[in-house]
Amino acid sequence: MDHKIYLDNAATTRVREEVLSEMLPFFREVYANPSAIYGFAGEAKKAVGIARERAAALIGAKPNEIYFTAGGSESDNWAIRGTIEAYADKGKHIITSKIEHHAVLHTCEYLERQGCEVTYLDVDGEGRISLEALEKAIRPDTVLVSVMTANNEIGTLEPLGRIGEITHERGVLFHTDAVQAYGHMPLDVEKMHIDLLSASGHKLNGPKGAGILYCRENLRLRPLIHGGAQERGRRAGTLNVPGIVGFGKAAALTGETLEERMRREAELRDYLIDRVLAEIPYTRLNGPRQERLSNNAHFCFRFIEGESLLILLDQRGICASSGSACTSGALDPSHVLLAIGLPHETAHGSLRLTLSEETTREELDYVVESLKEIVKRLRDMSPLYEDFARSQ
Ligand SMILES: *Cc1c(COP(=O)(O)O)cnc(C)c1O
Repeated sequence: MDHKIYLDNAATTRVREEVLSEMLPFFREVYANPSAIYGFAGEAKKAVGIARERAAALIGAKPNEIYFTAGGSESDNWAIRGTIEAYADKGKHIITSKIEHHAVLHTCEYLERQGCEVTYLDVDGEGRISLEALEKAIRPDTVLVSVMTANNEIGTLEPLGRIGEITHERGVLFHTDAVQAYGHMPLDVEKMHIDLLSASGHKLNGPKGAGILYCRENLRLRPLIHGGAQERGRRAGTLNVPGIVGFGKAAALTGETLEERMRREAELRDYLIDRVLAEIPYTRLNGPRQERLSNNAHFCFRFIEGESLLILLDQRGICASSGSACTSGALDPSHVLLAIGLPHETAHGSLRLTLSEETTREELDYVVESLKEIVKRLRDMSPLYEDFARSQ
C-alpha cells in the first residue's frame, strides 16, 4: 500500500469537505465581527446563531445553553473551575474518576492546591466507575461530579444515565467530558440529567480550536476568560466565526449520519478486534467488548514496547497511537491502563487504533498483517519474551 492509513481519529479527525466549504466565506467575505452593529455583521451573527442551534440539537439542548470555546480543554477547565467558584457557598468537594483526560485531572489537581477536595473514583478492569462508590462519595459539600462519557484511550462508555440520575437525586451538578462521544453516539442532556458537557470540533471532522460547553439554563458559572461581553457575558473574546460555523456544520452532518456510521464502524472495529485477538498470541483487548466507542480498538501486546511498535507501523504508512497523550520518551505508562489494573510491563505494549467513516476493510487487513509481522519481530528481539518462552 502506498497511501497512508490513518487510524488515530481519537487524536484528531480530517475536516469534512462540506465543513470546509461552509467555513471558507467567513475568512475573506463575511469577516465582520459578529458583535458589531452594522448590517455587514448581521450575516456573521446569523451564521453563529445557526451553528449554536445545530450544536444544541445534537444533544437535546437549547441554543442558549451552548457557549463556544477554543476546544475541549477549555470547556473542561471552565466547567470545573466555573462551577466550583460559583458554588463556593455550598462546598469545595469534587468527584471525578481516575481515567479522565488530563484536561479534567490537571484542573482538579490545580483546584486541590487551591484548597478544594477531590475524590478520584476507581474503575473496574474494563474502565467503568462503580455507581455504589459514586453514591458513597457524595457528601453535603459536594458541588460537582465530573465523569467522562467515553474514555479517549480504551473507548469505555461510562453509565452516564445512571450517574445523571444519582447526581440529580442528590442535588449535585453533573459535568461530562463528551469530547470523544459527541457526534459519535446518541446523547441527550435531558434524559441523562447532564448539567454541563464539553465537546470539541476537531474530534468530529470539524476544525481544531473550536469547542462548546453546554451549561444548563439558570446554573451559576463563573467565567474563565475575562474581557468583553461575548457569549452572554460569560466567555470573552471575539468569536471564532469560521471555527464556530465549522463546528455547527460538523455537528449537523454528524447527526444525519450517526446511526449508519456507528453501525458500519462497529462492524469494522469488531472485525479488527477478532482478527488481532485470534491471530496474535499474548494479546489483550482493553475496555469492554461491546460497551465501547464504535470506532475504538485498544490492545496490549505482551513483551513489547508500544513505542517501537508505533515506529514500525509508521514505516508502513500506518498512523496509530499508544493511546496515552504522554509525549514520546516519557517512561510512565498511561494512567488509564494502570487504573484498570494492568501491570507496568503490559501497559507499555499498548496500541490504540481508532477508525473513521473512511476506514476500509482492506486497510484493516493490511494493518493486521503488518501487526503480525511487527509484533513477532519485536518479540524475537525481546529478552522478556525469551525468558517467558524458555519457562514454558
Ligand atoms: C481531545 C480530548 C480533549 C481535549 O480537547 P481539545 O479540543 O484538543 O482541547 C479532552 N477530553 C477528551 C476525552 C479528549 O479526547
